[in-house]
Amino acid sequence: MKRKPDGAPLTIGGPAAFPEKFFAASKGVRDAGWSCIKRMPSYLQLLRVLQAQGQEYVSGTVLATVHNFEPVLVRKDLAFTGAVGQPRRGFRILELIAAIERFLGWDNQTKAVLAGVGSLGTALLGYPGFQDLGLRFVGAFDIDRKKIGSWIYGRKVQPLAQLTPFVRRGEILLGVLTVPATAAQETAELMVRAGIKGIWNFTPVKLQLPEDIVSQKEDLAEGLAVLSHRLQRRKRT
Ligand code: NAD
Repeated sequence: MKRKPDGAPLTIGGPAAFPEKFFAASKGVRDAGWSCIKRMPSYLQLLRVLQAQGQEYVSGTVLATVHNFEPVLVRKDLAFTGAVGQPRRGFRILELIAAIERFLGWDNQTKAVLAGVGSLGTALLGYPGFQDLGLRFVGAFDIDRKKIGSWIYGRKVQPLAQLTPFVRRGEILLGVLTVPATAAQETAELMVRAGIKGIWNFTPVKLQLPEDIVSQKEDLAEGLAVLSHRLQRRKRT
């Protein structure tokens, strides 16, 4: 079977069997590029704050100033979402939020299962903000008998052996991997056999996955390395 290592960007618009709604699978997203997509959550965050403050409209210039982006960049980003501003008033916040969510595919909740309910897995399950990002954990799985049957943030920890029927029954497409490195590849393969199409991989392992599986590897160490490096430079000057 043809495989690819993970860590590569999510494949956008994969084979026909791959549901369009999963993550952001539109041509618009493909054209926008990863940098643009990565800026979208920060726009959303600010828009929700402004909305909570009772504001109805926002200008691209305000979004640019708050985030320290070039206004022309923000205008280009927002154009990809299809949102249309009004002269002198800017964008209607409600509509802009909806446009960005639609663009990112976050207007549909994506159901996910998580394997490995340890320190990190528990923290992820407990983060309520994922709901706003269109991600809903519907199942949590582990192999530790002491954990199986316990409740973590409203989800009952189930034995890993139950993952396959659970995923098939619920037509779940996304798997979150927070198992120890030694179990990463085999657990990912189990997920894929069960029908999972995308894996959010928090383990340090570069997974070997079939071509039609999208995966994204997360590593806090990368951000920390950049921060430490910048701190060192700051200390020297
Ligand atoms: P942990 O030991 O607290 O939790 C691991 C859990 O996985 C345990 O509950 C264990 O019983 C369970 N487990 C073991 N094998 C399993 C299997 N085959 N199927 C299902 N569950 C299984 O570890 P942690 O600190 O939560 O770290 C988990 C993973 O996340 C590790 O791979 C670690 O390297 C990684 N990690 C990544 C980052 C990051 O920045 N991406 C940060 C912290 C940890």
